[in-house]
Amino acid sequence: MSEFVHQMAPWIDEAEVEAMSTYLRSGAWLTEFGHTREFERRIADYVDSKHCSVLVNGTVTLYTAIIALGLGPGDEVLVPDFTMVATATSVVAAGATPVFVDVEEETLCMSMAEAEKKITPRTKAIMYVPLNGRSGDMLMWVEFAKAHNIALIEDAAQALGSFYSDKHLGTFGDLGSFSFSSLKIITTGQGGALATDSDELIAKIVKIRDFGRPASGLDEHVDFGLNFKFTDVQSVIGNEQMKKLPWRVQRKRQIMARYMHRLADVSQVRFTRTDLSQTSPWFIDIICEKRDELRQHLKENQIGARSFYPAVHSTKVFGQDGSYPVTEMLSANGLWIPSGSQLTDEEIDRVCDVITHFYRT
Ligand SMILES: *Cc1c(COP(=O)(O)O)cnc(C)c1O
Repeated sequence: MSEFVHQMAPWIDEAEVEAMSTYLRSGAWLTEFGHTREFERRIADYVDSKHCSVLVNGTVTLYTAIIALGLGPGDEVLVPDFTMVATATSVVAAGATPVFVDVEEETLCMSMAEAEKKITPRTKAIMYVPLNGRSGDMLMWVEFAKAHNIALIEDAAQALGSFYSDKHLGTFGDLGSFSFSSLKIITTGQGGALATDSDELIAKIVKIRDFGRPASGLDEHVDFGLNFKFTDVQSVIGNEQMKKLPWRVQRKRQIMARYMHRLADVSQVRFTRTDLSQTSPWFIDIICEKRDELRQHLKENQIGARSFYPAVHSTKVFGQDGSYPVTEMLSANGLWIPSGSQLTDEEIDRVCDVITHFYRT
């Protein structure tokens, strides 16, 4: 019996073990300090943003982005219907209202034509999700936000290592958010980051993350704040993971290219068009016939796969009606197949053989 191939799994090696033991022997205070500042600097350098703040996770970063922009009750935020649920729940947490927008089939990202229809006088921001590192024309989204006088937040949780027109995703709008949960391209177990070029926004974020203090350790509270601080324990891992990111980005591109090549003749499986000079797909997504049966068949063959997200508007927590045909189609037919950067070529070939065989019989 061959080993189970996970759809995605975290990947650490001796580099993290060594770094952690050195850190723990160094008189560590454990909470955020020098290693966290280094992690922030590494991210800012990589994505080419002026500032970066690392926070506890990639949901809290979205919430923090919304309140840093001064949004709250009465304000509407456009959110794609096809996304991980936190894109929408973080808006709710801030007291604002998520307004769902259908996506486009070519990119799996928010449709501008649909967004236009959902604009009202209460619309204050767009939460754009470059799903799996793909995006629409980001320069047009920047123009769109400007034209409507609303903020642009990029939930780039899945887009570390992905670019549009050679500019890193998450750096087009006012704020870009990243996630380091255990299944993301790099991980610190839990973690998130906000990137911005705005001195004003980063000053707000730094206060929000530390009880509204003007400086750490000072019990003055000049602004609203909670405690979203990161830890150096995690940053020690994050810094090692960042060193591996350029390699992972290349590997992700090779993985997708190999899947597309090996499955090119399987007419029941479709890939989303991907420019591999710009995108390093976080999850490998396919739109396929008999999705649930295929997933089951993969499982019986020791291969993990994950169905696409449900249409967020229709989840029990939101329970809304409305017509979102592209999201509903994706949700019913989309499957994420093994995607970790640690996959070997042999494992990819095995997955492709199992898929090919499934449709032949
Ligand atoms: C992972 C993810 C999040 C949430 O990040 P966490 O760090 O798990 O809180 C938000 N949005 C998208 C698109 C994601 O993929």
